[in-house]
Amino acid sequence: MSADAATPLIRLSKNIENLTPSATMAISQDAQRRRAAGEDIIDLSAGEPDFDTPRIPAEAGIKSIQAGHTHYPPNAGLLDLRAAAARHLALLSGGRAVNADHIVVSTGAKQSIFNACFVLFGPNDRVLVPAPAWVSYAQIVHLTRAKPELVPGDLEWSLKVGVKELEAARDSLTRGLILCSPVNPTGAVYTRAELEAIVEWSRDHGVWVIADEIYRRIHYGSGPAPSVLDLPDELLERVILVYGVSKTYAMTGWRIGLSMSPAPVAKAIAGLQSHLTSGASQPAQWAATAALSDERVEEDVARMVDAFRHRRDMVVEYFREHLAGVEFVEPLGAFYFFFRVDGFFRPGMDGAMKFCGRLLQEKGVALVPGEAFGDHRWVRLSYAASEKALEEALVRIGDFARVLESTDV
Ligand code: PMP
Ligand code: GLU
Repeated sequence: MSADAATPLIRLSKNIENLTPSATMAISQDAQRRRAAGEDIIDLSAGEPDFDTPRIPAEAGIKSIQAGHTHYPPNAGLLDLRAAAARHLALLSGGRAVNADHIVVSTGAKQSIFNACFVLFGPNDRVLVPAPAWVSYAQIVHLTRAKPELVPGDLEWSLKVGVKELEAARDSLTRGLILCSPVNPTGAVYTRAELEAIVEWSRDHGVWVIADEIYRRIHYGSGPAPSVLDLPDELLERVILVYGVSKTYAMTGWRIGLSMSPAPVAKAIAGLQSHLTSGASQPAQWAATAALSDERVEEDVARMVDAFRHRRDMVVEYFREHLAGVEFVEPLGAFYFFFRVDGFFRPGMDGAMKFCGRLLQEKGVALVPGEAFGDHRWVRLSYAASEKALEEALVRIGDFARVLESTDV
């Protein structure tokens, strides 16, 4: 009897019938595995700052352990962290009022998004997801048994959506919209006026907006990127803000994110979380409290954002100079560069997945194919990597493009 025949048939729940593991995570783990095995790989796939966590939050985490803050935290998060987050968000939006009671701390912004979707959406609901979209949105919506509906952005408008596209996709079952700005994977940024128009539209139609602003501070314009919190209170009755420390403070491994929502939603989220995780790791919450409240950490943020800006300029300049025919989205925030590869398509290479597969195989550069974000014509490059790695990767991408241009295989 073969081993397969001996294995009992395992039937998994319908809950996960649409589940596909995260492509961004899978590609970056594969790149790391290859590198560990001695291959010459430059990994520009994962959207993760290459910096270490700044000293002040890191030490606050260590001190909290030494002080014995190692017990269960309150489900909704430490009061200190919720208060620090409220002050921080208020400050970012010109001193507006932010109620700490409406904030729930979770195990990463990913869980904040899951929680929000899980308490608001369910079978038969439709949730609009502007595309290209970060890999996890559609998957999370599926986990609630609602249906994600990708709404393609306008090519003439940095692949962003407006009320026109959203209204065309809306029907009587539409209950939600997940709006990311600055956008992963494109680096585009919605203006305040664009956000206002979308939020107004959603309020008028009873559509919840989950505004993912995890990249808000990584913005190359002046100040933080425009936010739903810049809008008047009466527009925010059906808005959930998602925020976190992972990207801005190089704290991806601490796993702290948060949401701010109307009181009944915040209460439901805390209740859900009380059964899921019993709250986020307590030492990590102390570290995040320091990140959001100690002004000295602002110097670290400025240093990292400056580095990202410089790397962004390097990538844009390289493409303008050496790959002039290749279209890309003007990157105004986050640390992603989204460029179009369908000009290189040929028999046998008819999608970004194949483009990226060959680039990795032939030149050792790992990027994320647009299929992961809902559009097979594009590729995402994360420039959250050292300048040296980036310089070398750009040369390899340029070489690869020239090889493709000069051959038809
Ligand atoms: N939203 C977006 C747009 C992201 O790119 C990420 C990165 N993983 C997250 C949310 C999740 O952040 P976290 O690592 O805090 O869970
Ligand atoms: N958000 C990052 C990315 O898009 C990290 C990986 C993930 O969480 O998907 O690459």
